Amino acid sequence: MKTKEPLPTPTVTIERKNLDVLFSALIKNGYNVIGPTVREGAIVYDLITASNNMPVGYTQEQNAGKYKLVKHGDQSVFGFNTAPLSWKKFLHPPTLELCHSHRDRNSVTITTPKIEPQKHAFVGVRPCDLAAISVLDKVFIASPYTDVGYQARRSDVFIVAVNCGQAAGTCFCVSMQTGPGATKGFDIALTEIIEKDRHYFVAEPGTDQGETILKSVPHKEANIYELKAAESQLENTAEQMGRKVDTTNIAELLTNNSDHARWQEVAKRCLTCGNCTMVCPTCFCSTIEDVTDLSGDNASRIRKWDSCFTLGFSYIHGGSIRSSVMSRYRQWLTHKFSSWHHQFGTSGCVGCGRCITWCPVAIDVTEELKAIRSNEQTNPSTKSTKEKQ
Ligand code: SF4
Ligand code: SF4
Repeated sequence: MKTKEPLPTPTVTIERKNLDVLFSALIKNGYNVIGPTVREGAIVYDLITASNNMPVGYTQEQNAGKYKLVKHGDQSVFGFNTAPLSWKKFLHPPTLELCHSHRDRNSVTITTPKIEPQKHAFVGVRPCDLAAISVLDKVFIASPYTDVGYQARRSDVFIVAVNCGQAAGTCFCVSMQTGPGATKGFDIALTEIIEKDRHYFVAEPGTDQGETILKSVPHKEANIYELKAAESQLENTAEQMGRKVDTTNIAELLTNNSDHARWQEVAKRCLTCGNCTMVCPTCFCSTIEDVTDLSGDNASRIRKWDSCFTLGFSYIHGGSIRSSVMSRYRQWLTHKFSSWHHQFGTSGCVGCGRCITWCPVAIDVTEELKAIRSNEQTNPSTKSTKEKQ
């Protein structure tokens, strides 16, 4: 995906009845369309072929430890926010065979699966998830150790972003400066507008490919009224956002407060289940397992998502470095909001709120950060010489 500026094609409007032409254009161009759909009482991203596969008329009620899919009362196509599992599962799969070995009477053959680009069109990517994909790109591509599998899977992904027309109860993208509007990293960005007698999308191309696809969908150049409608919807969404994080010097705040009493408090509640890391769109840690069949003739080396909340994650000879719940929670939060900056030049959190919704005991990162900031207990070793005197 190559971003080009400035774009000669203006922002346009597409009527709701023509949304399926966009799907057809993507399919005609060889893309597997992946978008939101309803399954077992939740929204998941999966293969879809038309807008009637999508959660039309649904929204989600989300709060700490709470998620409920409910009917909205209108015919909105994107009247919800994020799905529990992000787009990460397509780019960095939960399980991946790295190599396979087969033994016969005289020899052992080792094969590695062919790495191939996948032509996927992600439809309905929220701005926070665009930011998360950009974080994963930094980790897997723009680092000294490129993950060639990730690079191949990512190389031909077409992104249709959707600006948020409402904030979920756990969102805080405004604080993390990742939303509620998409500014980069998309091929097309849509804003859904529902009026009394009209339902349409304001569509902005972000790349050459996006512009080409948009040209094949019936559209009209957006007028001032339509552009203003999209803009004021984004303003309303930003105002709705109930959760906030003060990010001022946040990296230093956490490294300087590694002995804060709050870590012990949160450890009394944390179950170390790892849900927060599984749903997080930027958590990328994995482990390796070797498995054999019963005959012992076939073995596979599998990469699986892992979590810094497991004891095994920090196991080295002699035991686990982070054996206490406190040290594992502190490691996770400090990596997300502090050491990630040193490692990758960006925050590891994009403010999607998934870890808050899906924590079974309702631990809320925004509350934990607030508690540490409101009562800083700077480590003696990090106090300046003057302060110590
Ligand atoms: S913070 Fe919540 S989701 Fe994360 S490991 Fe602890 S209990 Fe599980
Ligand atoms: S830490 Fe929580 S809010 Fe931040 S990106 Fe991960 S899941 Fe989303």
